[in-house]
Amino acid sequence: MHTLLDLKNVSKRYSQDTLALSNVNFSVNEGEFVSIIGPSGAGKSTLLRCINRMIDATGGEIIFDNEDILNYKKRNLRQLRTKIGMIFQHYNLVNRLSVIENVLHGRLGHKSTLAGVLGLYNEAEKRQAIQLLGMLGLEEQVYKRCDQLSGGQKQRVGIARALIQNPKLLLCDEPIASLDPNASKIIMDYLQSVSKTMGITVIVNLHQVDVALSYSDRIIGVSKGEIVYNGSPKEITTTQINNIYGSEAGDLMLDLGGRNAG
Ligand code: ADP
Repeated sequence: MHTLLDLKNVSKRYSQDTLALSNVNFSVNEGEFVSIIGPSGAGKSTLLRCINRMIDATGGEIIFDNEDILNYKKRNLRQLRTKIGMIFQHYNLVNRLSVIENVLHGRLGHKSTLAGVLGLYNEAEKRQAIQLLGMLGLEEQVYKRCDQLSGGQKQRVGIARALIQNPKLLLCDEPIASLDPNASKIIMDYLQSVSKTMGITVIVNLHQVDVALSYSDRIIGVSKGEIVYNGSPKEITTTQINNIYGSEAGDLMLDLGGRNAG
């Protein structure tokens, strides 16, 4: 299977006192659905932001699509960002604009600044936006303002905006943390279908262990900036989950149902 992403000894230091990532090593195959789990402050969000170069890792190598992206500048960086879609906990939409305008913003990375500023989108782009919104069950909402949508609908607009980039990789930073269980299930089902039917690689930061275990091909557990588990969701044991969550683990036991201590 083809490796899409390979992290080698990646570290991120914010300050003298804050080493957010320490010698992180893992790789992700094309088409894989990977969940990153761990307590607050473990470094999950830092990890995703290093992968799309929103922030710069302090050390190590990040190989994406066969190239070391840590040294990318301007033009290469712009191209890289078109290949990596991002979904956020708080959706990051422009609320006063319509749904379709927000989706079309996903095309900006492919355009000149002037075309972007003038809002020049071609017919093919508009058709693709409408097709994606249909696929995500938002055909009735295409021309509504985003501030009229529910949280779950907003997150589906976020997914459409990421997909219209035609990305190879989708990074999702706590995509369901602000949603109720019903809306969360809908979003996770769509993310799974994006991975399985479109072949797009998905990496999701999740706080909910039960959700991570039921949707993922692989689980990566992060604790205090280090990878402490990297393997199948089927084989993870209660002990390993306790190891990932440390003192927060007590709150999670209910989620684990009948799993045996390993
Ligand atoms: P998680 O996503 O798992 O909650 P984060 O990646 O947000 O963890 O944070 C990891 C560590 O880095 C924490 O100690 C956090 O306080 C610190 N941190 C995160 N962002 C910054 C920043 N911009 N400046 C300084 N420290 C930060």
